[in-house]
Amino acid sequence: MPLTQRSSWLDPDLDSFRELAHSFCQKELAPNHERWSAAKQVDRELWRKAGEVGLLCLSIPEEHGGGGGTFAHEAILLEEQARAGDDAWGNAVHSGIVAHYVSSCGTEDQKKRWLPRLASGDLVGAIAMTEPGTGSDLQNVKAKAIRDGDHYVLNGTKTFITNGSQAELIIVVAKTDPGEAAKGVSLVMVETEGAEGFRRGRVLDKIGMHGQDTSELFFDDVRVPIENLLGGVEGQGFIHLMQQLPQERLIIAVSAVAAMEGAVEQTIQYTKERTAFGREIFNFQNTRFKLAEAATEVAVCKAYLDQCIERHLKGELDVTGAAMVKWWTTDRLSRVADECLQLFGGYGYMNEYPIARAWTSARVQRIFGGTNEIMKEIISRTL
Ligand SMILES: Cc1cc2nc3c(=O)[nH]c(=O)nc-3n(C[C@H](O)[C@H](O)[C@H](O)COP(=O)(O)OP(=O)(O)OC[C@H]3O[C@@H](n4cnc5c(N)ncnc54)[C@H](O)[C@@H]3O)c2cc1C
Repeated sequence: MPLTQRSSWLDPDLDSFRELAHSFCQKELAPNHERWSAAKQVDRELWRKAGEVGLLCLSIPEEHGGGGGTFAHEAILLEEQARAGDDAWGNAVHSGIVAHYVSSCGTEDQKKRWLPRLASGDLVGAIAMTEPGTGSDLQNVKAKAIRDGDHYVLNGTKTFITNGSQAELIIVVAKTDPGEAAKGVSLVMVETEGAEGFRRGRVLDKIGMHGQDTSELFFDDVRVPIENLLGGVEGQGFIHLMQQLPQERLIIAVSAVAAMEGAVEQTIQYTKERTAFGREIFNFQNTRFKLAEAATEVAVCKAYLDQCIERHLKGELDVTGAAMVKWWTTDRLSRVADECLQLFGGYGYMNEYPIARAWTSARVQRIFGGTNEIMKEIISRTL
């Protein structure tokens, strides 16, 4: 029996889209986990393969090369990626975040320049907000983009950047007016090919998500044409960030709930196969109660997530609702993954078991996309 009810926002067209997403994730993602973990990145070719079958930029309008779908398509692909046990491919950032900034905040010329190539996989996207000295406090970024004729001169260091070793189009959060706080922030699009002064640092050594190329990036007097200022108006960066962050947080929640569901399913199966003291582990009351609690967590999280997806599809998901779904689902995922791992005994601690990966991947979700403390800060301001 499935752990959750069918989502209200699904329909037969989305069901057939799921088949495509499912077969791609099972064929192209699931078998490569160990290889990508060792390489600390996915194959560059993966992006073009996904582009060829139309799985990139699903909710970007067709006129700009996207799939012409909605956030529902993005959500299904995220669920199937989680179901394949993949935590390496940074498509959520590429399609769900970078392409959306361009589509929602870019000029018509910028959309025509970048969206078709993001959709084909010819360009890989990243967003560089965080710096060594500041993450949560984005108004305080030190990166500067100072106008010099028909260019900006960009200086700064970014860290923890998803897709950092492969990205060819990077949204860099920088101050065009360093004397101002939020009002001085702009989003500068860096095309890395041939960009003098741009350097990638090492792929960082994380406790999980080993196949994802989270990296440091350095910008030393990088000259960026003024046409690459997203939206074409200085000082709009913070407003753009505030508009786009709810979708980023909803994306994290979709992945969290899918990962939670997967963890519980695996654990039910494992505990029905493993025996101790002459019976299935599942038949100890502690196991059944822990799994009953975990199944309830999944069902409750899914119900609120579905409500948020519906609101987002109608353009009605606000910053507070997105903060609530992000902190709640990622917090519950951490607990559920931990309880499930416990029921695997020592095998739960072995990297070759998907539950071990689910546990390490779960941990970071309370940190990125705005920490859960910042989510509570956002919510509390409305109380
Ligand atoms: C795997 C991974 C991928 C990432 N991908 C990206 C990416 O693609 N692009 C990008 O720009 N960044 C990315 N990040 C960075 C991530 O968004 C930041 O780590 C996060 O926003 C927190 O910032 P920080 O690490 O500087 O922590 P800090 O801001 O230094 O926070 C440290 C602690 O203080 C708490 N804190 C801070 N301010 C407050 C407050 N006002 N009230 C209460 N508590 C507070 C925080 O909640 C946290 O517990 C990624 C991080 C990781 C680990």
